[in-house]
Amino acid sequence: MLEAAIARCVALGRLARGQQGDALTQTLAELDAALLQLQAERLAAGPAEQAPEAELELDLSGYLTGWNGGAAQLFGYAAPEALGQHILFLYADDDEDGNIAELFVDPANAVAEVRRRKKSGELVWVRLALALIADAGGEPCGMRVRFNTVSEPLSDEDKVHLHARIIEDSDQGVLITDASERIVSINSSFTRITGYSPAESIGQTPDLLRSGVHDADFRAQVRAAMQGYGPWRGEIIGKRKNGELFPQSVTISVVRDRAGQISHTFSLFSDISVHKDAEARMQRMANYDSLSGLPNLCLLTQLVDQGLTEARRSQQHGAMMVIEISRIGAIADTLGHETGNELLCQIGRLLRLALREADILARLDGAKFAVALLHIEKREHAAIVAQKLLDALAAPIVIGAHHLQVGATIGIAVYPEDGVDTSSLIRYADVAAAKAKGVDSAMLFYSEEMNQRAQEHLRLESELRLALVNDELALYYQPKVSLRSGRIVGAEALLRWRHPVRGLVSPGVFIPVAEETGLILDLGTWVLEEACRQVRAWKDANLIMPPVAVNLSARQFDAGLPGRIAAVLERHCVQPEQLMLEITESLLMRGTDNVVAIMNQLVAMGLSLALDDFGTGYSSLAYLKKFPISTLKIDRSFVIGLPHEENDCAIARAIVTMAQQLRQEIVAEGVETAEQMSFLRELGCDQLQGYLFSQPVPAADFERMLREGKRLAFASR
Ligand code: C2E
Ligand code: MG
Ligand code: MG
Repeated sequence: MLEAAIARCVALGRLARGQQGDALTQTLAELDAALLQLQAERLAAGPAEQAPEAELELDLSGYLTGWNGGAAQLFGYAAPEALGQHILFLYADDDEDGNIAELFVDPANAVAEVRRRKKSGELVWVRLALALIADAGGEPCGMRVRFNTVSEPLSDEDKVHLHARIIEDSDQGVLITDASERIVSINSSFTRITGYSPAESIGQTPDLLRSGVHDADFRAQVRAAMQGYGPWRGEIIGKRKNGELFPQSVTISVVRDRAGQISHTFSLFSDISVHKDAEARMQRMANYDSLSGLPNLCLLTQLVDQGLTEARRSQQHGAMMVIEISRIGAIADTLGHETGNELLCQIGRLLRLALREADILARLDGAKFAVALLHIEKREHAAIVAQKLLDALAAPIVIGAHHLQVGATIGIAVYPEDGVDTSSLIRYADVAAAKAKGVDSAMLFYSEEMNQRAQEHLRLESELRLALVNDELALYYQPKVSLRSGRIVGAEALLRWRHPVRGLVSPGVFIPVAEETGLILDLGTWVLEEACRQVRAWKDANLIMPPVAVNLSARQFDAGLPGRIAAVLERHCVQPEQLMLEITESLLMRGTDNVVAIMNQLVAMGLSLALDDFGTGYSSLAYLKKFPISTLKIDRSFVIGLPHEENDCAIARAIVTMAQQLRQEIVAEGVETAEQMSFLRELGCDQLQGYLFSQPVPAADFERMLREGKRLAFASR
């Protein structure tokens, strides 16, 4: 009857939806009547039918012997599916099987709240009540279990019981302290995460988990939360019992009693080390190339952006290179992609080894790498680094049984000349790399002018190497004359390069290249050897020789220098007094202790030291006292202005006066006029070296000057 009344209401409602005007009015009146009828039917039917309470029966081994409609409705299994099954088939977790609640709960006090799994897989909290079933003889033969879903209102006692159970079962660690911050309760997740059992933690303070990594400010925030200043949520690094640190996501709150006093604090925490690891992994995936492990474009961009900010502030130069490796595709096609990949990794390693730590190497894609040099002193330095990278890839690379030869072209864009932002620099370097490939060149700068300068630099370097082998170098000698006697009292050996095409090349052109490339060491060795050979030859020719000075580069000045010089002197049977070493101020500015020790060793051997180009560097006469230097050479730049430039005169005078106090001999360099000479002579300068007396000349010419007893003529005043 009730169903019929409902059906009529529904039908009338549907009908009304499509109607208008009188028809609608009619239908609505009918619907009113039907609703009245429905209410009457409802009242007559009494309260709504309810499913019976879920109930099942078990034998003493836990097998189901009874299953009513309520159980079917609650769990979703029909009686035929459930009967004969073991009660465990309703259990939520496999690990609960050690505690078959239905069998072991004390039947006299048999209420428990447990989780069970429905046929649909859904979990449900149920309260179960147990009763024993006895056989005819009064012996227990089974058990009746009634279930209520726990969504029904709970008694306070049940609630406490339930909450305790939830806390216990929670995946989060729970730590409860009393008002004096002593731990009064923990759950099993606390023990699982931290390693501390209840016995080890209850009664302690939460400092038990303190890692020591947080600063006082951070700890004050956490303490404030524990003292009731609002709930606090955050990440804390905790320490497990085994000493391991772990990140935890923590919520701290307080519980107050009726009087508003804090009675307890509680912390809920989860171990997020797994997430952190995943985060780090994701970070890695986002920033590094998975094949080579090198930074990818994204990280390269970030790092260069940072570098450029710094470079802008300190007005430094930088360079971006794109390196395109050729033949990888052909190799992978022939020997397989694994070999191709291994080759790329190997190339990454070789490039990395050729670079300095501060340089950034990234893999862009396919066979393209990028290198960012954040600080280069001169723009040409980028070409030197590029050449190093090309050299690193010049030899065949061994992968398994294969010796694989790849090719490489490098495009270079310079900051700030070519571009001022990372993406432009990468793009321009890429364009230059493509162009390099087109013109069959190993490297190319984005800008033409830079390109020419760099090419010149590199050409000079390779030609200089050949010069050493092909005997194109020579030493010229420039006399130093006494400003008292006018006689030749010394000579400076100056390097010359007789270039087969360019003619005589000045050291001003090639010494800086040799310094940058390290070739200066070979050149320096050659100079020492040649100077000693010449001195010995003059001695054999019965020439009375004043000391000959050779110039030393700061790069030659290492702990092995005294030994190397001693060996050369011995080889040519030359007395150390015959040799003077000219060094520059930049050397004195380097880690002084070591330098002073080497100088002392050289002086102890009988050599003398002259400080060249004095006045052009960080010259401090007071500072000079620390070094065993016997001669000071006033740089040509101060001599030029004498005697007309007031400043130059003042500087020359100051240098001479102070050097006299330090008992150092003073040589004026680059003296070209008689006026300069007279002025210097009056100041008390000891010697001069300059075109006024002689240019640097070949050994034979110098020998002739000596034999002829050439003298400086002092202009009469
Ligand atoms: P330096 O050691 O200061 O040498 C003096 C330079 O001044 C020489 O130039 C010399 O030719 C030039 N000079 C001398 N008198 C006059 C003058 O009256 N007027 C003018 N205008 N110039 C004068 P050079 O030979 O071109 O050498 C230039 C620099 O190259 C040298 O400066 C030295 O620093 C470096 N150098 C030369 N030979 C060697 C070497 O064997 N080893 C190293 N490490 N450096 C060298
Ligand atoms: Mg010199
Ligand atoms: Mg000089």
